[in-house]
Amino acid sequence: MFEDKDDIIIPPQASEPYPDWRQDEHTLTNAGLPEEERDWFSDARPKPVRKSAAIFENFFNWARANSLWILAFGTGCGAIELRPLITARYDISRLGMQPRPTPRQANVFLIGGYVSIKTLKRIVRSYEQMQGPKFVVAVCSCAINGGMYWDSYNTIKRIDEYIPVDVYVTGCMPRPEAVIAGFAKLKELILAGKAEGQNLYAEKFDWYKANQKAVIKDWNMPDYNW
Ligand code: SF4
Repeated sequence: MFEDKDDIIIPPQASEPYPDWRQDEHTLTNAGLPEEERDWFSDARPKPVRKSAAIFENFFNWARANSLWILAFGTGCGAIELRPLITARYDISRLGMQPRPTPRQANVFLIGGYVSIKTLKRIVRSYEQMQGPKFVVAVCSCAINGGMYWDSYNTIKRIDEYIPVDVYVTGCMPRPEAVIAGFAKLKELILAGKAEGQNLYAEKFDWYKANQKAVIKDWNMPDYNW
């Protein structure tokens, strides 16, 4: 099915520095909503996280890396291996991580398994509702390249064509140790100021949105859900 999606747009080259979001802050039309509902929602686009002076940014990154609050989205069978992370055996709390129940309270989006098109819609909404700076960890081969569902009619192959991914954890299914190693990598990236997925989403918002709308046919939600 994925080969049929000819309307997926090739991403533009990343530009440095990030474009000033004020230039086109209000340009969304929310055309997927009924006309009488469009004014209920904002027409603003996502904004890149603005960096502070280096000494403050290093401190912020240290704090971010040591307080990872996770929204775990068990989209497939690989999510079975996420539950042990909060048991006494693995105990991710000792690493400054804890699961949170809503997108508003989380800054790490953990996607655990294959992603159906129906689920992708909920993933987009949840990701956009999370507060920034936010990071995405994709767990399982299925979320990364389609895995054993690579030719399924209703699953997507690559989650990173729809939302930005900061860290990939491969395997079918990855053990909790592999997921913890993924978190260690994420911390490393955050400390180095290189976990830039959220900024990529803001910069290439039109590309991500075009890809999302190419596969989500019942698009009855705002263009940017925040
Ligand atoms: S990679 Fe394996 S364990 Fe993970 S979602 Fe796919 S089939 Fe399930």
